[in-house]
Amino acid sequence: MSNFLRLLARNKLALGGLIVMGIVIFFALITPLLPLADPNVTNTADRFQPVFSEGALLGTDHLGRDLLSRLMWGTRLSLAVGFAAAIIAATIGAAIGIIAGYYGGRTDNIIMRGVDMLMAFPYILLALAIVAALGPGLLNALIAVAAVNIPFFARNIRGITVGIANKEFVDAARLAGKSDASIILSEVLPNVIPVIVIAMSTTIGWMILETAGLSFLGLGSQPPVADLGSMLGEARSALITNPHTSIVPGMMILIIVMAINLLGDGVRDALDPRLKSGALSRPMPATRVDRKGPIPEAEGDDLLALRGLETQFHVKDRVYKAVGGVDLNVRPGECLGLIGESGSGKSVTALSVMGLVASPPGVITGGAVYFEGEDLVGAPYSKLRRMRGKRVAYIFQDPLATLHPLYTIGDQLIEAVSCHRPIGKSEGRAHAVELLRQVRIPNAEKRVDSYPHELSGGMRQRVGIAMALANDPEVIIADEPTTALDVTVQAQVLTLLDDLRREKGLAILFITHDFGVVAQLCDRVAVMYAGRIVEQGPTDAILNAPAHPYTSKLMACVPELGEGRRRLEAIPGLPPVVDKLPDGCAFADRCHVATDACRRGEIPLDPLSDKRRVRCIHPVSDPATEAAQ
Ligand code: ADP
Ligand code: MG
Repeated sequence: MSNFLRLLARNKLALGGLIVMGIVIFFALITPLLPLADPNVTNTADRFQPVFSEGALLGTDHLGRDLLSRLMWGTRLSLAVGFAAAIIAATIGAAIGIIAGYYGGRTDNIIMRGVDMLMAFPYILLALAIVAALGPGLLNALIAVAAVNIPFFARNIRGITVGIANKEFVDAARLAGKSDASIILSEVLPNVIPVIVIAMSTTIGWMILETAGLSFLGLGSQPPVADLGSMLGEARSALITNPHTSIVPGMMILIIVMAINLLGDGVRDALDPRLKSGALSRPMPATRVDRKGPIPEAEGDDLLALRGLETQFHVKDRVYKAVGGVDLNVRPGECLGLIGESGSGKSVTALSVMGLVASPPGVITGGAVYFEGEDLVGAPYSKLRRMRGKRVAYIFQDPLATLHPLYTIGDQLIEAVSCHRPIGKSEGRAHAVELLRQVRIPNAEKRVDSYPHELSGGMRQRVGIAMALANDPEVIIADEPTTALDVTVQAQVLTLLDDLRREKGLAILFITHDFGVVAQLCDRVAVMYAGRIVEQGPTDAILNAPAHPYTSKLMACVPELGEGRRRLEAIPGLPPVVDKLPDGCAFADRCHVATDACRRGEIPLDPLSDKRRVRCIHPVSDPATEAAQ
């Protein structure tokens, strides 16, 4: 709740609306306590007194009634009717929408066609017809306004409910034997309430206007009692001669509706869960860079080299050190594996390369990313954009989520190219077919016109790879590309990547949590833990003789075929939380060889042999046997 108010307060216009509405509602509530003249007492001797006249601050109307008093009582009435209509419309509309959306089928059909019928009538005409049938009066106007708004809520809520009713957690509740009523109340309703509140907050202003409209036409509140609409209606005949009688209620309607709408927009934004984490600010096109320390120099002639890369998430007053000084490098035709438990910072490292970590909250706070010797951290966005997908391409874990469901894969492949160079229709198609062939998709000419949902998971991931290859990049960063696939398809995809890198001299940064995958594909491997590289070296050497206790434990978790029965060792404990990293080695608390020295100070990534490095003061393997190899 306090979070909601904080988000709301960030939106200056909404805050203004909230304050104005607060004041208006406050005065509406205390109106009976104020020493005001009776709003309905006429005094024709004092008719049309101007504003600021003696005894009548806002003047008097055509019957000599005090306008200030009538305005206050009228506002009270208008607000009460508007809010009541909104609540009634929201409750009934939401109930209808939930029932239609939840039960679906014929229930849905019958209810929604009824709603459609109501919606077929012009809005205000329907309200007029209802009031005409029921007879004029404020209560009937309220009923009419509520009734014409029910279809709006019903449609809205039905749409949301249909989406929710097919979610797995609702299936789970059904399997658990819950009744429909209890599923609706405990699973569906909490998910639609924000939508109801949003729809309400954006329609209350409209309902107040509609009620005022009916009253203006003489169908709402009946004399002598007035709401804002009927005040305006009564002042109509004196519009030219005594404009203040119209301006007073008119301004009030304007203020209320403006304030409610601004507030409503703010409420909508603050309640939208997608905007919550980003704190209502759109993410920047490239990760924010705020490097304090010295920038490390490029060394060697690697194609892509990360030097001391630090990426953090700044959320409120917390700092999550997701990546804490990572050094990596790849050469053309080489595959570097980056392995570590979930949450160790692999994805954030990979995304930092092209400035793809969302900011806020992400910030690159140190280090450098050299591509062909040029630092990309802090490079202008236009430069990063030209490189993204063209020279450094990504393959992500979930191919279904990365493909657009409504375009054919051919169109999406062509789009990947046309971002970087103009390409004609037939040339684009030929290129797309060629790409699909490269990733060994059978029948590529036909498949190019398929939609993502028509492909299997393995094929979709091949399309993901084809898209990464579309512009002949030099580096491919693959973030767990096989995790969502089954083992046989995984093997095919790995072979494919391996072939491609040999054919095209691609440099691959391959992220995974699976040592089996590393063994199959990678020349070298870097092991990551709590945002840092703890061990790095040639794949064979590390697989045969892991030096860091974490690496050896990680490998002990992997079952091996044909190895006979063996106890699989789980690593006890959990990785540390990255906003509270311990002093010294982050793995010390889970390590069986840790000593007091491990928990003090910085532990460097020391060379173990000429190609291997390890961040440990008690490496597992014996360096002597290592040297002999
Ligand atoms: P993985 O190695 O599984 O790919 P990630 O790189 O995705 O791990 O995450 C690294 C760390 O960064 C995790 O501890 C995660 O909690 C943290 N993290 C990721 N995104 C955010 C965020 N938006 N705000 C705060 N922490 C985050
Ligand atoms: Mg990840």
